Amino acid sequence: MKKIYEKPVFIKLESGFMNKFGSSPYYARKIRKDIDGVSIDQLVSQFGSPLFVYSEATLRRRYREMFTAFNTRYPHVTFGWSYKTNYLQAICAIMHQEGSIAEVVSEMEYDKARRLGVEGKDIIFNGPFKSPFALQKALSEGAMVNLDHFDEIYDIERVADAWGKPVKIGIRLNMDTGIHPQWSRFGLNLDSGQAMDAVKRIASGGKIAINGLHCHIGTYILDPSAYAREVEKMVCFAYELEDQFGFKIEYLDIGGGFPSKSRLKGMYLPPEVAISPIDDYAERITDALYRHLRPGDFPRLFLESGRWLIDEAGYLITSVVATKRLPDGRRSYVADAGVNLLYTSYWYKYTIELDREIQGVNEPAVIYGPLCMNIDIIDEGSLLPPLDRGTRLIFSPVGAYNVTQWMQFIEYRPNVVLIGDAGQVDVIREKEDLNDIDQRERLPERLKFDTLDTSHAPTGAVR
Ligand SMILES: *Cc1c(COP(=O)(O)O)cnc(C)c1O
Repeated sequence: MKKIYEKPVFIKLESGFMNKFGSSPYYARKIRKDIDGVSIDQLVSQFGSPLFVYSEATLRRRYREMFTAFNTRYPHVTFGWSYKTNYLQAICAIMHQEGSIAEVVSEMEYDKARRLGVEGKDIIFNGPFKSPFALQKALSEGAMVNLDHFDEIYDIERVADAWGKPVKIGIRLNMDTGIHPQWSRFGLNLDSGQAMDAVKRIASGGKIAINGLHCHIGTYILDPSAYAREVEKMVCFAYELEDQFGFKIEYLDIGGGFPSKSRLKGMYLPPEVAISPIDDYAERITDALYRHLRPGDFPRLFLESGRWLIDEAGYLITSVVATKRLPDGRRSYVADAGVNLLYTSYWYKYTIELDREIQGVNEPAVIYGPLCMNIDIIDEGSLLPPLDRGTRLIFSPVGAYNVTQWMQFIEYRPNVVLIGDAGQVDVIREKEDLNDIDQRERLPERLKFDTLDTSHAPTGAVR
């Protein structure tokens, strides 16, 4: 066989730079031949590539680990599954089976939870936009609604007028917990007095009873003590409301934001080192509760963890479809999945594993997706050996947010499968086809045609 000429490349050897296996990074490989005992080969031949794969065992293990961390430290703990992190029915059903209620941030998510069988009383409704219709529906079905802004007060008071009795709601706070940039766009600011102004406004109206406080300080929060500051401020504010206005605060909803083991771009330390165990978070949070709550007072503690619970349970299998040398000498690959499926690759650097042993020296490579879009890069700078067409790359952890933020741009979305506890593989979202893309479109009668007729088209340059 004739050998194809390839321009030689120079790689700076960094002598003495060992990875944790004691070998040079230029020869280290991460190989994965299966997920939960089901081979990558079998998964791809049965369900195609690209393919999202979820591990039920990992999901349940993570859930139980986190729930135990809180439940063994505080008497009234409830998890509210953050639907926007992943609202596939099968995923939500597992969360609900484990005991979680639903946390939704839009009417669409609210409807999705209801259709799945979740009762209104088991739904926390957050978010900056709740239409008057959605509010009225959620409140009348007994959902826990957390107020986001002043204008919503009027919408909720209108519901109270219609009912002829006060409506119970929680209010969402934002505050300085030492996390920067501070998330100040949702809820009412505590430190500036805005939240207190809203409470005064609500109390003077006499139509709304505040029975809960909510706050979500951000996402991927690496510092557990930020939550301790959050809890302290929430508890103090709760007692101000009780003492000054006679409201009874029945729940403290401290949001989510606990970091999964994904690696934020620009992060220096590997996630295994940078991320504290969930027990540390639970310890700080419950310690703050016990220090600031009055004796015998145990309001319900809601947590709305998203990424911590699901990220590690998700994998994306992709295939190399082409290999290319870039003019600057770097090796690049085209994969069959891009930012259309891995939307979060703009911020996170994933672990990439190969489905087979490969000979040759590792080189820094760029992995492009299939989109005709310059920014469709899902990895840059990872050290990879020369990959043949057809090599599978397994990206992880990708369980959080990708399957909700993915986009349909020029490609069909692929199968999503769930590997069950007993090793069974179920499709939980079918690969799309043209009907999914076309079914909402309407072609006006006058624009329909059988075959393309170009006879009357002007010849020559058209301008
Ligand atoms: C997105 C969101 C969550 C989940 O956040 P994670 O960082 O994934 O844990 C929880 N609560 C609210 C209000 C959210 O918007």
